[in-house]
Amino acid sequence: MIIVMKSDASKADIDNVQNKIKDASLKPILLEGTHRNVIAIIGDETKISDEFLESLPGVERSMPILASYKIASRESSAEDTEVPVGDATIGGKRIGVIAGPCAVESEKQMISVAIAVKEAGAMALRGGAFKPRTNPYSFQGLQKQGLEHLAAARKETGLPIVTEVLSESTVGLVAEYADILQIGTRNMANFELLKVVGETKKPVILKRGMSATLDEFLQAAEYILSQGNPNVILCERGIRTFETHTRFTLSLSVVPQLKELTHLPIIVDPSHGTGKRNLINPMSKGSIAVGADGLIIEVHHDPETSLCDGPQTITTSDFQKLMNDMKPIANAVDREI
Ligand code: PEP
Ligand code: MN
Repeated sequence: MIIVMKSDASKADIDNVQNKIKDASLKPILLEGTHRNVIAIIGDETKISDEFLESLPGVERSMPILASYKIASRESSAEDTEVPVGDATIGGKRIGVIAGPCAVESEKQMISVAIAVKEAGAMALRGGAFKPRTNPYSFQGLQKQGLEHLAAARKETGLPIVTEVLSESTVGLVAEYADILQIGTRNMANFELLKVVGETKKPVILKRGMSATLDEFLQAAEYILSQGNPNVILCERGIRTFETHTRFTLSLSVVPQLKELTHLPIIVDPSHGTGKRNLINPMSKGSIAVGADGLIIEVHHDPETSLCDGPQTITTSDFQKLMNDMKPIANAVDREI
């Protein structure tokens, strides 16, 4: 069950509703949104009625949710969720573009790419400090030192930083540095990790598992939301199919479909979704045309020497061109970039 509070509901109104839920031996989960607050009830909903909840001061409406993902479901909010990213948001009119290398390689590299992507109009800087590699002998990331290089690049440019957290044991460390925690495709169904990340209350980019259905994807988001963290950004990053022409198959139809199923913002990762540098520009434009709220793109000052994912990484000048090329598409769908 979801209780939507009025936009002018006071803290006392919110506390009162939560107390009434606890009195019925149920668990309230408060989700403080940018525009309004929502309280989800977990447990046997027959213990409390909609009529009773709607009679409480500050309550706009109370409703049962049929979907298996309740807080994430569109039924719980007609209004789109905006997730704070630095002093901007992802999910509003402005399309948020996150750019940076696959992996953090050095402080110099991070600062130079951060300056270039900021100048081109990126909203945040990406870079993996802990890398989930298929081959255990591949570069695993600079780890803590990588986080320090990201922090140095943020200090230099003011760009918020996005970096992946691989395990429960490193959530505390990564959250000390990151502005946005990234959950990679291989961890979408690591439910214990999702719960711990939910507890941090930090914005999270949740990548779709490469073989996950939309229903599974949204239930993974629900794990984070149900810890009281409303700041979840979904990311389509391509799925495994029989096709070998691209690294993964970038499934853009999920963007408008997810817009119907959820109020959470949706971004697209054309880098992992295609694995091919020449496809980043058209697929980024396509993503915006179908309604994506943002993009996460791998950019390197010299992709040929990139320690990770070079073939899908674009140069800083390609990125600058891409940002310009996306403007008319964004305007055509009534967005800004
Ligand atoms: C990444 O963003 O660098 C990454 C490893 O992504 P994914 O989890 O989508 O493969
Ligand atoms: Mn990568």
